[in-house]
Amino acid sequence: MATTRIGVLSLQGDFACHRAALEPLGVEVARVTLPADLAALDALVIPGGESTTMLRLMHSNGLRAPLAAFARQRPVLGTCAGLIVLGTSADRLPHPPLGALDVTVERNAYGRQLDSFEEVLEVPVLGGAFHGVFIRAPRIGRLGRGVEVIARRGRGPRGEVVGVRQRNVIGLTFHPELADDSRLHEWFVREVVTAPRRRNSEAA
Ligand code: GLN
Repeated sequence: MATTRIGVLSLQGDFACHRAALEPLGVEVARVTLPADLAALDALVIPGGESTTMLRLMHSNGLRAPLAAFARQRPVLGTCAGLIVLGTSADRLPHPPLGALDVTVERNAYGRQLDSFEEVLEVPVLGGAFHGVFIRAPRIGRLGRGVEVIARRGRGPRGEVVGVRQRNVIGLTFHPELADDSRLHEWFVREVVTAPRRRNSEAA
């Protein structure tokens, strides 16, 4: 199978940290700033940053519709601002988000930059604990049908939802690219990007 090519939306935010987390996994990483950059990609990462600025730049670069179309077909991972951009609605945005993930999101839900925090999370797809870095993080509100929980603050069903999956689209309120632990990126590449591709090519 050809090398997996993962794009990182590089308009604004911590896209360089996602590149640094992905490169050691043996995938090819490409910058995405224009619609044409999406053409040859197997998957896309939308980084953390400032969702309002990111949405404005997406609009001015003509990326909104191409990104929404991409997320209907191929794997996408959104972290923090990336989750806000992927959701169905969030407060105080200059443009509607992409609606690729059926969740509502409350921005800056834990307060200001100073209220950023780190905490050990429960991530069953990784077999348990993962270090969560939350920076002016959003909070996930309503979960639509078909949205699965993949990460929580605290064990058990009462733990606050901080990571979700709807088929090929993953959204996290925290920053795995800042955790000094590439297991979540590895899981994304293996389970969400490569395994379905392998199944499709075997079926063909
Ligand atoms: N507070 C930012 C926003 O609303 C998200 C923060 C982040 O991505 N670390 O867009």
